[in-house]
Amino acid sequence: MSFSPIGILGGTFDPIHHGHLRIAQEALEQCNLAQVRFIPCGTPPHRAAPRTSAKQRLEMVLLALHGHPDFVVDAREVARTDPCYTVDTLTALRAEFGPQKPLCLILGGDAFLQLHTWHEWKRLFALAHIVVLQRAGGLPLGNAMNNADAMLKAEYRARLAPGAGVLHEAPSGAIFVADMPALEISATDIRRRCAERKSIRYLLPDAVTHFIHTHQLYLTC
Ligand code: ATP
Repeated sequence: MSFSPIGILGGTFDPIHHGHLRIAQEALEQCNLAQVRFIPCGTPPHRAAPRTSAKQRLEMVLLALHGHPDFVVDAREVARTDPCYTVDTLTALRAEFGPQKPLCLILGGDAFLQLHTWHEWKRLFALAHIVVLQRAGGLPLGNAMNNADAMLKAEYRARLAPGAGVLHEAPSGAIFVADMPALEISATDIRRRCAERKSIRYLLPDAVTHFIHTHQLYLTC
């Protein structure tokens, strides 16, 4: 039996930009996902506090996804004040979608290489597949894995899927590497440009740019 998987893209989204939207689109198409759920985190456990409130980051995600039929905003983490661990969010999604629905956690290659530092990271494989987007022109993920954490490397080798079809045949447990055109866009760079009063046009959707300017966000470093 085959089920269309649900894609899950968590992030700080401070702000959301075309790099995020493109990895979601690539995962949607290459893995034939039913939808991609964007989940802005409330209090990220792995990094400094976001520069904007969870409500503002949620509003920017809503503006960015407006009109896309297969992109869904999931606000479950935004209301929380305690650290949001992906393993907890996936546990809640697994309970909602049931034991058979394939769930695919979508990660950039940089995020995947740090997976072994995440809270209860090995449990993630029991809850979801992992789709890693490898950037064209960069070091192929297979090569980057040579220098990765030994336990992460072992999981990668054991779970690597030969094709996206595997994501439809089981609810969780595989790692699939999808391709992504290199878009050297980061939220850090966008915030820096705002602080330097430089243009951020074409790096993110116009509606998000407008929101940033209207609310005078990121004006200091
Ligand atoms: P910051 O610059 O503040 O660290 P960011 O732009 O990297 O933020 P995050 O919200 O931390 O954005 O990232 C969420 C996910 O999106 C991560 O899995 C990350 O690897 C991925 N991602 C972010 N930007 C890109 C990009 N330009 N190309 C591919 N993946 C990306």
